[in-house]
Amino acid sequence: MKTEKVLIVGGGFGGIKAALELARHGNFRVTLLTAHDNFRYYPTLYRTATGGKRANSSIPLSEIFKDLRISIHKGVATTLDRQNKQITTATGETYGYDTLILGLGVITNYFSIPGLSDFAYGIKSNEDALKLKAHLHKQLLDDQQPDLNYLIVGGGPTGIELAGALPGYLRTIMKNHDIRKKSINVRLIEAAPRLLPRLPRSVSRTVRRRLKHLGVKVHLGKVVQGQTADNLMVSGKRLRSHTVIWTAGVTNHPFFAENHFVIMHRGKVATDVYLQAEDNIFVVGDNANTPYSGLAETAVYDGAFVAANLKRRARGRDMKAYKPKSPISVIPAGPHWAAVIYRKFHVSGFIGWLLREAADFVAFKDLESWPKAALQWATGLDGEESCPECSDKSDRLTEAQPATK
Ligand SMILES: Cc1cc2nc3c(=O)[nH]c(=O)nc-3n(C[C@H](O)[C@H](O)[C@H](O)COP(=O)(O)OP(=O)(O)OC[C@H]3O[C@@H](n4cnc5c(N)ncnc54)[C@H](O)[C@@H]3O)c2cc1C
Repeated sequence: MKTEKVLIVGGGFGGIKAALELARHGNFRVTLLTAHDNFRYYPTLYRTATGGKRANSSIPLSEIFKDLRISIHKGVATTLDRQNKQITTATGETYGYDTLILGLGVITNYFSIPGLSDFAYGIKSNEDALKLKAHLHKQLLDDQQPDLNYLIVGGGPTGIELAGALPGYLRTIMKNHDIRKKSINVRLIEAAPRLLPRLPRSVSRTVRRRLKHLGVKVHLGKVVQGQTADNLMVSGKRLRSHTVIWTAGVTNHPFFAENHFVIMHRGKVATDVYLQAEDNIFVVGDNANTPYSGLAETAVYDGAFVAANLKRRARGRDMKAYKPKSPISVIPAGPHWAAVIYRKFHVSGFIGWLLREAADFVAFKDLESWPKAALQWATGLDGEESCPECSDKSDRLTEAQPATK
């Protein structure tokens, strides 16, 4: 039987799942082309930004694919040549395929609001998270009169998890450095009339109460209009802040529009029932126009779905049609607390947090062996600081009592 050359572009949740499934199967010669040599576990980035271990949100691809027959290349795909069935990268390398799977994820969208791209912090990569953490630290220690106004824009899961963790982390830095008690002002700004507008109202209310309990002020129905070095303009008002964190917008990867794919509403790529955008070009995860696109769980499901269909096709059987899978939403807010929502069921508090920990472990287990997944999960219990003062104190804390996140 002829070996099928499968090129997977994008080493995120969807691409990696497809690659793992196909690389274990003799019928396929799998190549993974991706922009980074590590897998980024976005759900724990907020922890990395607020004192957690960097390794908790990053796994080297070489570890994930150890002992598997796969060719891994680092590169940024720019052009699709349909005629010759090949992808070209920004540095001019070309990669051929019989079958192409695209899972490039999304990019930050500032909706052309002036100043945001220059002054706002983000939380979309390990680099973003570390830059924000360094800023939080530096600003508290170096400035004689530090600006203690922290503005998080976006009342979706990312904004909420960061808002939940930030007050505690700032207080920890201040305590470690014996900075006398100052009042911190953390605000979460959302344009919609409620937090988590895609989830049930009762969940929005519960999460809002929780944030209030943590000392976060929530501003609903407020629209960001611009940012300068010192201020954020919000619904006609100037809010002073040197720390604005933008979590309010993403847009589909520009590769698809630039390469003339059919784009649907929300900028997602149109596919058929097999997640095929065109003959032998499959699109997975955040890029595809599916009902639950935008979640890690959906991307993993899509990757597994496309891989299973390719295996079916290789055995001469018909491919199956895609059935969207209702996801479980888990939204942590502060230490040992999360809201968990599955269809009409929802629970919040410590039980929610336990479920979130279990979900992280299952996600790592999907990518690595049991012992490695356990180690990866356990890195989430540790802190990591480049500042000697904080590092020393967090070590002592870890020895003295179970770590909190
Ligand atoms: C801060 C944050 C927290 C989140 N928390 C959660 C959560 O708790 N639960 C949840 O379900 N979802 C969460 N999400 C969403 C979830 O991470 C995404 O839905 C998921 O990553 C989508 O997977 P994907 O495979 O489509 O894309 P990604 O995982 O984004 O992977 C895309 C890959 O493509 C690579 N790439 C990009 N451009 C190119 C190119 N031109 N050439 C080659 N490679 C390229 C990237 O480097 C990356 O490896 C979160 C997202 C963020 C940003």
